[in-house]
Amino acid sequence: MKVSRKKFLSLSGKSILGFSLFNSLTGSALSKGTAINKGTGDIMIEVKTKRLNLTHTWTIARNASDFKSNVFVKIEKDGISGYGEAAPNVRYGENAELTTKKINQAKMIFEKNDLFHFTDIKDVMDKTVLNQSCAKAALDIALMDWVGKALNTPLYKMFGLNTSKAPVTSFSIGIDTPEVIKQKVKEAEPFPILKIKVGKKNDDEIIAAVRSVTDKPIRVDANEGWKNKEEALEKIQWLKTQGVEFIEQPMPSEMIEETAWLRERVDMPIVADEAVKTAADIPKLAKAYDGINIKLMKSGGIQEALRMIQIAKALNMKIMLGCMIESSVAISAAAHLAPYVDWADLDGNLLISNDPFSGVKVKNGRFIYNDKPGLGVEGDF
Ligand SMILES: [Mg+2]
Repeated sequence: MKVSRKKFLSLSGKSILGFSLFNSLTGSALSKGTAINKGTGDIMIEVKTKRLNLTHTWTIARNASDFKSNVFVKIEKDGISGYGEAAPNVRYGENAELTTKKINQAKMIFEKNDLFHFTDIKDVMDKTVLNQSCAKAALDIALMDWVGKALNTPLYKMFGLNTSKAPVTSFSIGIDTPEVIKQKVKEAEPFPILKIKVGKKNDDEIIAAVRSVTDKPIRVDANEGWKNKEEALEKIQWLKTQGVEFIEQPMPSEMIEETAWLRERVDMPIVADEAVKTAADIPKLAKAYDGINIKLMKSGGIQEALRMIQIAKALNMKIMLGCMIESSVAISAAAHLAPYVDWADLDGNLLISNDPFSGVKVKNGRFIYNDKPGLGVEGDF
């Protein structure tokens, strides 16, 4: 039977909306007749919200906070525990409650599929775990930790990455008064590169405070804070005189044309953060941005981050790995991919005072990897 393209698209659209495809994707169709190797033991998925306290009040152009409520996940099967973490972000309409709900809804995907077929699980999650991308990230990180442990291999090794190639990580300085900024810069002494948050009214004051105490290279993140292209142009031209390496998300994410206009006029790389979540977002940004900031919480985990790295490389774009305020679980997960990228900004765990885990460590900005399997993290929640 010949089916026209239009008819085919309409049919597949209908089945996506219906439950039949969801059921077959989540494995219930398989469980009816097809034998699959799912390991021997039962699977247990534990979810818990934990409050991570910030050492300093964390202020960016959008908001300020003293703590973050992150959602932790443990996947247990065959005596192996894989850990994952979600850092819900209000910018993307996420919170701990909705994230927990999403994770609980997705449990059946893991119950019905072989965990070693992690690409299948990702495909199913991409089609069924919509919104709350940090929920998907927590599950994908826990899954990859489990697989790495089951294969007795650190993730960087599983992906063929040379840890000596990992870039140094920057340390982020949130928006504050000049006096506190100076103090924070002094505390960040071991880090060779700083990332400075701007985008409110006092940008000049902040950069002046930083420059009064250090001449280190700095990177600047406006978090969509500049609302028109003329303002952004003026700010960037001034930042150029202040030893700034690149500017991250100068204007709101939807202002792609204005950012392309800006890019033609400035001699400084422009990096997309809020404008990019997954691989599908990257091609349309290539004309406006020189690079992208990949965060596991936006991508929905390690597997999508790897896909984003490949797409960005194909488009000749620079790649940064960033983070939210996260414990050593999610930070270690991202650090395993760091050898693959140009810039790292993985300091979320260093900004909190009660990290329940330890994993990939940082010394003088350099990641210290261990050879433990999976994420190489220790601890529990
Ligand atoms: Mg950013």
